[in-house]
Amino acid sequence: MKVIRTIHEVRAEIADAKMRGLSVGLVPTMGYLHEGHLSLIKEARVRHDVVVMSLFVNPLQFGPNEDFEHYPRNGKRDERLAREAGVDIIFNPSVEEMYPTEPAMKIRVEKGVDVLCGKSRPGHFDGVATVVMKLFQIVQPDEAFFGEKDAQQAVVLMNMVSTFNVPVKIVTCPTVREEDGLAKSSRNVNLSKTERHEAPMLYKALLHGEKLIRQGETDPLVVIDNIKQFVQDGSGTIDYVEILQYPSLERMETVTGKVILVISYHYERARLIDNIIITV
Ligand code: AMP
Repeated sequence: MKVIRTIHEVRAEIADAKMRGLSVGLVPTMGYLHEGHLSLIKEARVRHDVVVMSLFVNPLQFGPNEDFEHYPRNGKRDERLAREAGVDIIFNPSVEEMYPTEPAMKIRVEKGVDVLCGKSRPGHFDGVATVVMKLFQIVQPDEAFFGEKDAQQAVVLMNMVSTFNVPVKIVTCPTVREEDGLAKSSRNVNLSKTERHEAPMLYKALLHGEKLIRQGETDPLVVIDNIKQFVQDGSGTIDYVEILQYPSLERMETVTGKVILVISYHYERARLIDNIIITV
């Protein structure tokens, strides 16, 4: 496994692989790897000759009062886990390598960002789309792998490749969970002991919402209200609870078809998100 920190070196490696007719899979991450990331690497490993994992905490996608400074980082541990999972190349650029100057332009996402994290984190998906577009230009993968855990991100990136005719296929992989149901996240280390103990209620609340729908409830507002009630005694605060059509992320009057139930919840030092996608 090679650890590469510059754009020109990673380009040279990829050019060499392509000349030899090898396919390339890219797994973009912000590091502090857990089994969610490893599941994406595993899928990329099955489907491609060369697996590139980018490791970059992208300042562009963090708002001014968000956790860029406190985002967990551990490069050495990430290198070991990536090597064990079968990564061929880690692309781990510095902020200066990716943004030597203030970027002269950014992607502005127009659709699907008036809800969920797009609404509660203004500009976040512009930052995500901009860095992923850069990574696609640098690595030129055949496919790129993303988690359903960040479903809105996957939708935005699918819209990006179709809007700009980027020749990269977006592959999504299911959410990996702890045994108690909590979605794995790098941010979970920033939970206190009590918060960590409580946090599986988020997934339970979504399952509770699904149960109501399966029992025949079709009013999204009733389901949302029930999900909110389920977590109301928690020690954090609800950021949002939504039910939307998937993948259009549009609101609906009656719950029907493919829908996504989403929750975002603030603890003291970590904002957690989770979702389930179901067909009614
Ligand atoms: P991050 O490092 O948090 O930016 O995540 C990198 C990639 O891993 C994104 O595509 C995420 O959606 C995905 N991911 C994060 N957590 C999970 C999880 N629990 N299960 C599956 N994929 C995940």
